[in-house]
Amino acid sequence: MLILTPFLLWGEKKENSFEYSEYLLLKTVENPKEIDIKWIQIHANETEALKTMFWALERFGGSSYQVMNHKKWPQREIKDQIEGKRFYYDPNRIFSEKGINETLLFYNSIFFQKKKQAQKLKKKTADKLKKNQIFFLEKLDFNPEVYLIALHNNMNKTEFSLEKYLKKPYSLFYQVYQNENENPKNFFIVLEEKEFLFFKNRKENVIWLQTADEKMDDGSLGFYCKKNGFPYLNIETRFGDFEKQKKMVGDAVFFIYSQKIQKQIKRIKSLMFF
Ligand SMILES: [Zn+2]
Repeated sequence: MLILTPFLLWGEKKENSFEYSEYLLLKTVENPKEIDIKWIQIHANETEALKTMFWALERFGGSSYQVMNHKKWPQREIKDQIEGKRFYYDPNRIFSEKGINETLLFYNSIFFQKKKQAQKLKKKTADKLKKNQIFFLEKLDFNPEVYLIALHNNMNKTEFSLEKYLKKPYSLFYQVYQNENENPKNFFIVLEEKEFLFFKNRKENVIWLQTADEKMDDGSLGFYCKKNGFPYLNIETRFGDFEKQKKMVGDAVFFIYSQKIQKQIKRIKSLMFF
């Protein structure tokens, strides 16, 4: 006989760790409370985003993914090696061949000289990252009905902000809404017009990737989702704006809920007025 305890009704957390290669670790926690959302923190150095993710998982439920270089936490880059040679890569740049090649060149310029031997090694390294990509995608197990929400922090020492997308070539592919009263380091990245309009109406900084043009393919999860039609939201928040990030998460959850309710209303209407 199945006995439902209140504990089960309110969700039961399940933790898993998947080690892949020597340094890459993917930790997942399932908390099937009331909402089906996947959360991910892919850059381990963005520690406030991790705090936000734990908070969101506790409050709304879903499942979370934490990516880390488990030998050197909280380092952003993942270290790996091939034929005894060390190399580094950004775990959020391995979701396309172009991204893999770019992240390898970015972090390992000396490693990839034009010599024939170096070229061979580069090919082997890229193949290894392709395997990491397959590992990630299998574990993330995308579902066209379930949103993946990526949580990031923008460090104060970097220039990165929404203003980057106001300039070419980004402005050719992204639509931008900027609220001048908000910090430009706090913004949503979205893939669909309905999402863009929702956050714009709430006067939140938001950028919308309109097409999956190869020029914008940086190998990130966001671009991968755009290319493959998976629901995805990215929340970028300045390091130090923890409360703001929590508020943005609340807005995102509200958006996802309201979409679900609208779908149900449509279904009921179709049953009533045929
Ligand atoms: Zn990040």
